Amino acid sequence: MLSEERSLGSRIEYHENRAADWLCQRAWVEIDLAALAHNVRQLRNLLGAKTALMAVVKADAYGHGAVTVAQTALQHGASWLGVATIPEGIELREAGIEAPILVMGATNSPTQMEAIVRWQLQPTLCTLKQAWVFSETIAPFSCLPVHLKLDTGMSRLGAPWQEAAPFVQGVDRLPNLRIASLYSHLATADRLDPQVMRQQQHRFVTAVSQVKAAGITIPRIHLANSAATLIDSSLHYDLVRVGLAIYGLYPATHLDSGISLKPVLRVQARITQIKTIQPGTGVSYNHIYVADRERTIAVVAIGYADGVPRNLSDRLSVLVRGQRVRQLGAITMDQLMIDVTGIPDLQEGEIVTLLGQQGQEQISADDWATMLGTISWEILCGFKHRLPRIALPAK
Ligand SMILES: *Cc1c(COP(=O)(O)O)cnc(C)c1O
Repeated sequence: MLSEERSLGSRIEYHENRAADWLCQRAWVEIDLAALAHNVRQLRNLLGAKTALMAVVKADAYGHGAVTVAQTALQHGASWLGVATIPEGIELREAGIEAPILVMGATNSPTQMEAIVRWQLQPTLCTLKQAWVFSETIAPFSCLPVHLKLDTGMSRLGAPWQEAAPFVQGVDRLPNLRIASLYSHLATADRLDPQVMRQQQHRFVTAVSQVKAAGITIPRIHLANSAATLIDSSLHYDLVRVGLAIYGLYPATHLDSGISLKPVLRVQARITQIKTIQPGTGVSYNHIYVADRERTIAVVAIGYADGVPRNLSDRLSVLVRGQRVRQLGAITMDQLMIDVTGIPDLQEGEIVTLLGQQGQEQISADDWATMLGTISWEILCGFKHRLPRIALPAK
């Protein structure tokens, strides 16, 4: 990612400074850090004073760039970071980030455990065996904070909730480990019907009281993802783990009231050629689009190798000069074509917005997700590293 000063400068100097690095880019992703800061502050305001906000920055911050997102989120109200893998945690430490980092994926091998200790990451433990190996791996007299995960209905990582008390007791007896939290993950929080979520909550609360009854004090319990955080403060407990919402998207349409979130990511690409085609002319591979009349088309320098799903071929809309226009024919690996008939004086080099706002118009990751039968999480994570991330600074 380029420095904030550089990207700010480039925006202002767009017409003067043709040598700026990112101006030779054909396509890129803009990360609006002011929007990110806004979302984090909105979420922070939703939480009671005793609830910490964890910014979930796994998968390179859902495609937004983990280090910059983490730094911004920490400046505006997050106090924890969540990642899925050890290398994701190491990347944040190498950038000088000192906030506590929870690795939410499993850590199984002694080699992974050594990396956890060396980089001061905090692991998720799901079995007594894992805890035992950790305890053995760690140098004596050290004390590693560990987070114990319960499966309350997701059927993914975690000890079965019915076995919470013996699991936690077993870990508590091991040397060199300090239990930092007990947590679980919800499977259906974004559904309209809350029944399964409430069942999970009930199981979680039951497990926590059994642990307490066994005489063990847990400093922190947590359950909520973005959806649960937006639904109800009774799900907040001591910490919420928020991913999607900090990137400015709602987990479901019925959750889009309450706080106002702003999308952080914008996908931009340049027009590289403009031409007029005659009626009957086919466009792109297999000619799935054939011009019905004379049309002006523009070639745009972005394709499926950048993360624009080929499945959107001939169905996509993009924004140019603040207008919504149709994409024509098959999306190719590096390029796609759009219909710019009737837009006067359009120039090669002008910028097309694929996702995000341009003028009064906006295309969201939810629009793509609906067309593709998937979820916005997958759309955000789909943009490839070939697209540089340009940070627009928070004011
Ligand atoms: C990814 C993840 C989250 C964040 O989920 P969002 O729906 O994006 O808020 C929270 N907790 C765990 C365990 C996760 O894996």
